[in-house]
Amino acid sequence: MTQDTPTPPTNDLVELRDVTVTYPGATSPALLGMSLAVTEGEFLAILGPSGSGKTTALRAIAGFEHIQSGEIHINDQLVAGANRHVDPERRRVGMVFQDYALFPHKTVAGNVAYGLNRSKGEARVGEVLELVGLTGLGDRMPNELSGGQQQRVALARALAPEPDVILLDEPFSNLDANLRDRVRRELRLILTETRTTAVLVTHDQEEALATSDLVAVMYKGRVVQVDSPAELYTKPSDPWIADFLGDADILTTTGHRGYAETAVGRFKTDLKGPVVVVVRPEDVQLSVGETPNAVVARTDFFGHDQLVTVALHGGSRIRSRIGPRPNYQSGDRVRVRAIRARVYPGRT
Ligand code: ADP
Repeated sequence: MTQDTPTPPTNDLVELRDVTVTYPGATSPALLGMSLAVTEGEFLAILGPSGSGKTTALRAIAGFEHIQSGEIHINDQLVAGANRHVDPERRRVGMVFQDYALFPHKTVAGNVAYGLNRSKGEARVGEVLELVGLTGLGDRMPNELSGGQQQRVALARALAPEPDVILLDEPFSNLDANLRDRVRRELRLILTETRTTAVLVTHDQEEALATSDLVAVMYKGRVVQVDSPAELYTKPSDPWIADFLGDADILTTTGHRGYAETAVGRFKTDLKGPVVVVVRPEDVQLSVGETPNAVVARTDFFGHDQLVTVALHGGSRIRSRIGPRPNYQSGDRVRVRAIRARVYPGRT
């Protein structure tokens, strides 16, 4: 290679363009013009409520579902489109399923070797077992492993043939909470180390935000917002996404002369007429000693923080997330102020 060989541009490794999937007999499509691009080396989470089409999207990328319209490209190859459907085993994708789908009668090494070319099988099996931290366990049977270890076998099996992309379908849902955090971090490290492009499907907001570079939020068969976890959480494109991603309270008011005036503060906006103001509890402050504008309705104590629900004069309720102190009691009169909020068009 000469010195001035241009580096290839970063391409979208997986791309869905306007993809529609309707199951036989279904009254509405599971995917309805879904578009999504995943850049090489990126870890993207598809997040959405149950039934929004996440699994269908993953299965369409893998080739387990036929699409009715649109196109799917993987590594610049058209794998699904008009009159074209490349079979799953020819798409160079690795799949990790929710239940791991290990072969129960094959050893760990046998599971990992599945789908590998015999000639380089053994060396590669050792390599990926080392990568996932299972060196020495190749002769075990799957039922002799913990849930976390089985998950790593499934990941090793998916990584072994060096796929272009790894697709993960709710891979942590069978693990208990403590283990889940650890396995999630390990998986993330392994995929970063191997610069593997990955698409994770989850209905768990925290998991999507904590694990991925980008989150695509799905609703009714479409992607409604794609952003980094921090952008998505702080700048959701509509109130539904704000509420879906975390705790959010909604106040209705009107936009007037550059502001939306509420009981907890006035917020800049160019919108005029009815607006909704979305407030996250961590942006809501409480104080005593100033003119009160609310009464404490309840407190939920979690140790590292607490959620204090207050009733504003006028009836609406709003929550404040604060540290474990001070100790508010129901009926306490307090001053509530939101230091930040987002304003969206309201219903006219
Ligand atoms: P999610 O993974 O977000 O929960 P799915 O992709 O599983 O959503 O499902 C999307 C929609 O397609 C849902 O309305 C679901 O009921 C429907 N669906 C999923 N699988 C099938 C199937 N095999 N046959 C018919 N309808 C299905």
